[in-house]
Amino acid sequence: MSTSQNYIYLDNASTTKVDDEVIREIIPYLSELYGNSSSAHSLGVEINKKIVKARGNVAKLFNSEPKEITFTSGATEAINTTLKGIVTSNRTKRIQIITVKTEHSAVLDTCKYLEEIGFDVVYLPVLKSGLLDLNELKKVISEKTLLVSVMLVNNETGVIQPIKEITKIAHQFGALMMTDATQAVGKIPVDVKDLNIDYLVFSGHKFYAPKGIGGYYQNSQSLNFQPLLHGGGQEKGKRSGTLNVPGVIGLGKSCEITINETERNKSSVQELRDLLENELLTIEGAFVNGDRENRIYNISNICFPHIDADILIKMLDNICVSNGSACHSELIEPSHVLTAMGLSNKNAFSSIRFSLSKYNTESEILYTIKKVKEIISQLKTSNYA
Ligand code: PLP
Repeated sequence: MSTSQNYIYLDNASTTKVDDEVIREIIPYLSELYGNSSSAHSLGVEINKKIVKARGNVAKLFNSEPKEITFTSGATEAINTTLKGIVTSNRTKRIQIITVKTEHSAVLDTCKYLEEIGFDVVYLPVLKSGLLDLNELKKVISEKTLLVSVMLVNNETGVIQPIKEITKIAHQFGALMMTDATQAVGKIPVDVKDLNIDYLVFSGHKFYAPKGIGGYYQNSQSLNFQPLLHGGGQEKGKRSGTLNVPGVIGLGKSCEITINETERNKSSVQELRDLLENELLTIEGAFVNGDRENRIYNISNICFPHIDADILIKMLDNICVSNGSACHSELIEPSHVLTAMGLSNKNAFSSIRFSLSKYNTESEILYTIKKVKEIISQLKTSNYA
């Protein structure tokens, strides 16, 4: 790869470009307005006003109250804070946590840890479509269930889970409901009141804010829990540590842009995603992983049978895409999401995720279609030679 101008970036589920408007908003807080938002002096007070505004924008995006938003370093910290906090602060006899096999590793690995310290964790299977079968949830949920944690949008397939219905079932059994909305926030409407959710996690770098800022929503009526980080008592004691002022201000701006822009972005991004997907599906044997109806508009996960996705990614060179395989102590494992959906290891290793943003253009998509087709035909010829 030569210069950054030459990238065609189709890996936006991994991270996004920071919006120029967001950058302009942040810069003064990295230079002349570098104070600490907790300071009592006039600079601190001025900065704190900006933090209040940013928190208000985040709250508005979720239809929540500003006091229900706590900032963290991102979704991983927010997930650790909420899951560990809820279970360790609970004073009831409830010991069961229910989650799903296709969750992000931040949820799965936190649950694994909670299992190690004595909690009973159930990992629900999914259908071939990647959707949760609500009957599976109904089979295991009981008065012993403390918490149900299900993601809103899957990061590999874009499949949207029926969170409103899941929350209803959780509440019928007196359980709390948390959703990892990292891939949803900034792209589709996320209304915490409509979802009736207890806790919701998000991350700025997935929707044009910088890396290292995110947070969680906590319904003010739901169980209050112990913080993960103790110290200076910032964020009303819920998350100690000097606030990432430029990050919070950038996140607030990004939420403001989202509130004004979502519908327009959605249709143009979806058009490009569909163009890419429909063209790539003309490749012999190719198929989409995940439910095509209940799916976010910017992700397409396609399996190209008999093609090694790692080789394809390398040959695509300046076109940035990804696959879900994970490297664990030198062993490459297939995507846990795709295998949970019933894909063979072989087909999981042949799958690629394309994830678009508002910055992608039609000419980039047309070039990508041409390159993928060329490379696959080249690989097929060499396989069969
Ligand atoms: N949850 C989901 C669904 C994600 O896609 C990601 C990021 O890849 C995370 C959690 C972790 O987010 P962060 O990078 O903000 O810790």
